[in-house]
Amino acid sequence: MEIKKFEVGDVLEMKKAHPCGARRMRVLRVGSDIRILCVGCGRDVTVPREKLEKNIRKIIPSDEVDS
Ligand SMILES: [Zn+2]
Repeated sequence: MEIKKFEVGDVLEMKKAHPCGARRMRVLRVGSDIRILCVGCGRDVTVPREKLEKNIRKIIPSDEVDS
């Protein structure tokens, strides 16, 4: 199984959108739980890593965001 690698500052494109409709989440903190910030509404959420990884469609490295 593919291991998803991301770090603080990267943006994750999710398979399932946030209730506000946005699919992109910025990574705020990485550990056994991941803290992410919704790019659409600015709310932050803490999700267990395992659960989050299943929902990632694409990882956008921080240096490629906004390009
Ligand atoms: Zn949102």
